[in-house]
Amino acid sequence: MQAGVIAVQGDVAEHAAAVRNAAAAHDESASVVEVRDSGIVPDCDVLLVPGGESTTISRLIHREGIAPEIREHVADGKPVLATCAGLIVCSRDAKDDRVDALGLVDVSVDRNAFGRQKDSFEANIPVAGLADRFHAVFIRAPLIDDVGDGVETLASVDGRPVAVRDGPVVATAFHPELTDDPRIHDLAFFPENEVVA
Ligand code: GLN
Repeated sequence: MQAGVIAVQGDVAEHAAAVRNAAAAHDESASVVEVRDSGIVPDCDVLLVPGGESTTISRLIHREGIAPEIREHVADGKPVLATCAGLIVCSRDAKDDRVDALGLVDVSVDRNAFGRQKDSFEANIPVAGLADRFHAVFIRAPLIDDVGDGVETLASVDGRPVAVRDGPVVATAFHPELTDDPRIHDLAFFPENEVVA
């Protein structure tokens, strides 16, 4: 499996490790390529859009011509996992002129809304499709404040969605790449064939 981590900015190495672990759990090997230029995404089977700074990630993927390739990847039905800033970048509307959102996940988000209440927090949350709770790490997380009809909510905190699936895209407000648990990467990339912990 060829996995591309959008690597213009953000926590790239952590995603590379997590996707390798998820693939290993299925006796597959993932070769991971860091995407900083156009021309790489078309060769990838799966993509990861990491956490980081959404305004920077958005600016650079548009400048480098990567943005239309991510859209094409999703139009072809190929999986994407987007986390935190990645969720903001992939959303329908980030309500911030500096984020040219890709519209791949039919949600609107409020950047840093959780952050204003509490900068970072961690919670053990139930996630649809996982047998046991997932330790979710939130860092200046976006709030999902509107969810379109075709979007499946996979997890919520205080009644607010924090993990969603829209077709081939799984997006989380938290950072599954920052724990050793590859189950969210597994949900995103092996949806037919989940490893039950
Ligand atoms: N709040 C950040 C942003 O708006 C995202 C934070 C994160 O990815 N941990 O880009």
